[in-house]
Amino acid sequence: MKSLIQETPAGLYCEVGDFYIDPVRRVSRAVITHAHGDHARAGSGKYLTSKEGRRVLRTRLGPSASIDTLAFGETVLMNGVTVSLHPAGHILGSAQVRVEYQGEIWVISGDYKIEPDRTCTPFEHVKCHTFVTESTFGLPVYRWPAQEYVFEDINRWWKQCRADNVAAVVLAYSLGKAQRVIAGVDAALGPIFCHPSVEMLNQDYRATGIELPATWLPTQAPARNDWGGVLVIAPPMVANSAWMSRFGKTSTAIVSGWALTQGTRRARSVDVGFPLSDHADWPGLLTAIERSEAEQVLVTHGYTRPMVQWLRENGKQAREVVTKFHSDGTQRTDLLFADS
Ligand SMILES: [Zn+2]
Ligand SMILES: [Zn+2]
Repeated sequence: MKSLIQETPAGLYCEVGDFYIDPVRRVSRAVITHAHGDHARAGSGKYLTSKEGRRVLRTRLGPSASIDTLAFGETVLMNGVTVSLHPAGHILGSAQVRVEYQGEIWVISGDYKIEPDRTCTPFEHVKCHTFVTESTFGLPVYRWPAQEYVFEDINRWWKQCRADNVAAVVLAYSLGKAQRVIAGVDAALGPIFCHPSVEMLNQDYRATGIELPATWLPTQAPARNDWGGVLVIAPPMVANSAWMSRFGKTSTAIVSGWALTQGTRRARSVDVGFPLSDHADWPGLLTAIERSEAEQVLVTHGYTRPMVQWLRENGKQAREVVTKFHSDGTQRTDLLFADS
């Protein structure tokens, strides 16, 4: 008998329901876990995503995309297959996809984290027979410090930048991480300026009902020639760009789970790293797997092999799943660093 969800070159496919989950190619029906570029690609016929994620997906896919939505927990029938979306706690609108057919239940997690995040609905544990889990940080060394302490460290660094009269620049992924940082810092310390790619998504967050402190584009302060002590939020790709040069002297931080093990070594010209991730750490992954009560665990994204090995040694039926293909069919490990 064919599996309810299959691995195909276009991505995870439900043949009975005739839909793909986060397809990597253009397909007629795509169910999207969240709007990050390695999960949501333009060009498919119809998209289904969470209500909470509608605006950010629209911004990412453009005005012509056909997007349907489901509230978390709401069900829809697709050729007799019951599909529902459940919060994944990763970024605004991020969802796990629950697929049920003739009593068999699969849950495809997408990216997720267990930690609370005031910029999205918290992760929900959903019971299933087969759990497809991500494993971006699937090594025991990854254990996140409590985020209150990380935000205290960020605030302390910002205060130091203020004392040194330099701009405090946070390099963070435009969708999700940027807004989590903005919502988490002490906005009373000074004004927050954002790169346009971040500010555009801030507007989507606010329009979706997420409260963020006030943020500005640098062009909204044209008379300003001293940027000492301001907080700047920008995506990593604009480090060292002309856009950044306006701020004069800066101290630059990355905010990423990789900061835990790789510190600031990965990126030159970064002064400090703060370990804050939108992915589950090792205990978080194990908790989600345990509470899914799944008989079978499929592991995708990141450290799949050590995770599969650990699960097998601990009595689970587990294997790797490769959902990302180059044209030559190899896995794209470069995506590991896309939204950490
Ligand atoms: Zn993601
Ligand atoms: Zn991802």
